[in-house]
Amino acid sequence: MDERDHIESLISVLNETYGTISWWDAPFDEVAIGAILTQQTRWENVETALNRLRSAGLNTLAAIAAADPADLESCIRGTGFYRVKSARLRRLATFFLDQYGGMEEIDLIPTDLLRRSLLTVNGVGEETADSILCYGLLRETFVIDSYTRRICTCAGVSLPADRLRRIFLSALGSNTHLLRSCHGQIVEYAKEYCNKKRCQECRIRNLHE
Ligand code: SF4
Repeated sequence: MDERDHIESLISVLNETYGTISWWDAPFDEVAIGAILTQQTRWENVETALNRLRSAGLNTLAAIAAADPADLESCIRGTGFYRVKSARLRRLATFFLDQYGGMEEIDLIPTDLLRRSLLTVNGVGEETADSILCYGLLRETFVIDSYTRRICTCAGVSLPADRLRRIFLSALGSNTHLLRSCHGQIVEYAKEYCNKKRCQECRIRNLHE
């Protein structure tokens, strides 16, 4: 079996476990905000911060660009590194508002070009950029985060993120719903098995034997 075979077997196990799922189905602005907030923290903290931002009317990029930094920091404090994240949110908001007039304009930009542009924003790495593209803009990309890396390693595939992303893209094709579903399944599996140390029950770790 080669690496692609292992990934295809992993995808089969995830599909058998969860079926196709809808994960992180949210408006573009909230996905972009959440993609920054989720850096180095648990998702539960992001949800709390997003609720606070909604209550304060700060859940859009336009509102964040115009917000008093202290108000923004107060809403996102629970996600950790809140001053850094506040600055990153404001830079990301300014990037989208300055570079693109609106969703119609963003929709015209090819994914590779948009990804390269996003990666020029200070504080936006590959995981954050791919989360925004995959979940916020329904583009053809795959999120390689710590969950993906861990589960792929257990499935017998340890590769640089770029190669891993290409294998998932090749295995799942251009179906953006499947790309989002598969990453969502990985997150669910990590929460249900990896984080609870249920390795003895894990089917993934036997895939490469
Ligand atoms: S449950 Fe354990 S063995 Fe299975 S993928 Fe997670 S960390 Fe690896």
